[in-house]
Amino acid sequence: MLAANLHVSSVSIVDANGNPAPSPAVGLLAYVRLDLDVDLPTSTVFSISGTMYGFTNTFQITLQGTFSTFFYATGATIKHGAATASAQVDPENAVPESDESDNSGSVNFTPTQLPLPSKFIQPLGGTAFRNYGYVNYVDQDPTSGFADYRGGPYTYDTHDAIDMTEPSFTAMDSGVPVMAAAAGTVIDLADGNYDRNQFIYNNANYVAIDHGNGWQTYYYHLREGSVGVKVGQTVSQGQVIGMVGSSGASSATHLHFAVYNGDAVETYKDPFTYWRDPLPYQGDVDQIVDAGVTNANPTSILNVEERPPEMRTFTQASGQTVWGWMNYYARANLAPNFTLYRPNGTVFSTTNYTAASVPNRGGYSYFSMALPASPDPGTWQVGYSIGGVELRRESFTVTAAGGPAAQVEQGTTYILTAARPRSTAARIRRATRRRSRSSRSRTSEPRR
Ligand SMILES: [Zn+2]
Repeated sequence: MLAANLHVSSVSIVDANGNPAPSPAVGLLAYVRLDLDVDLPTSTVFSISGTMYGFTNTFQITLQGTFSTFFYATGATIKHGAATASAQVDPENAVPESDESDNSGSVNFTPTQLPLPSKFIQPLGGTAFRNYGYVNYVDQDPTSGFADYRGGPYTYDTHDAIDMTEPSFTAMDSGVPVMAAAAGTVIDLADGNYDRNQFIYNNANYVAIDHGNGWQTYYYHLREGSVGVKVGQTVSQGQVIGMVGSSGASSATHLHFAVYNGDAVETYKDPFTYWRDPLPYQGDVDQIVDAGVTNANPTSILNVEERPPEMRTFTQASGQTVWGWMNYYARANLAPNFTLYRPNGTVFSTTNYTAASVPNRGGYSYFSMALPASPDPGTWQVGYSIGGVELRRESFTVTAAGGPAAQVEQGTTYILTAARPRSTAARIRRATRRRSRSSRSRTSEPRR
């Protein structure tokens, strides 16, 4: 028998300071410590490897003498759930030993979740469910399917955050602030990337904040040039860190708010633990986040992400068409509808859409109604309803003379002419677009 031997005496988990951590904290770095008795000639070269969460780290040692020692075989940010780590010496079996059976070990550990130091506030300016919606939550389905925390459709496969989505680029142009959801330290950021993405993606502007105890939050898709903090800077809860935008892998103006503690956390599974003022589930809310009146088909003039230009003045000329639109969320099986009111308050016309074919999580809906040949002068109104309940009204004026004024809107200039004449008296049209499962956070973003 050879006297030479490498003997693994123990494998254990230690924290970032090297202290034993049999129940390491989720979200913090921990290491696999391998304790070793060495009885080999000086200058012997051998390898050590450690495996944690499926990743194996291997490195070489050149021996200086005979002794007992230890190595940090590998390290990782601790995730939720019980796991096993292992370590091995001479994994290639390159060193002849008297005992080849004592070269490895493993350790089971159950992580501890340290509390979030402070509950979150809403990180986006404006009012949730009035100015913006919760388009996506964290995907809870581990397969290629998707399900939000209530089993509903407000997510997409592998989505790791909440998407708080504005009705259009108008919000970005007006400057909606993004705030630190809790106090912390800025650990990462990016700025300077184009921010009006709908289809073509680039790198995102973002800020990452560490809150302590292994908790981090990420704020993606910020407006170009809006990031107002620096890495290493301490931020207070509610401090503005940037403006909402559509940079990176994003198809609409929105904030991708991710909470990580080792891995992505769906805070709405336990809302009162994480939020100072938790919100209801988006799928329980009937909500119109924006609505307007215009004089041409919003879908044919411009993409709806560039808010349809307002047209609030019509004449008594014949052949005019009023278009109304709404950006809404609704419970399943509730139809959006529109009512046109004359200046005297009576109903001129109403749509009669049914729940069939209505998207199950809201979207954009439009109608057009031809005004009568000589519409009553005064203030007309459009009522916007969901499931038979009128939630909003917008108005426009019919004047005795004069033509529609040219309208200049944000972003790009859109000049509208009078509506095209229509032959049918009360033609009603509608276009309902399923809300895109936009708001992606893939490809070009650094992912955790
Ligand atoms: Zn997102």
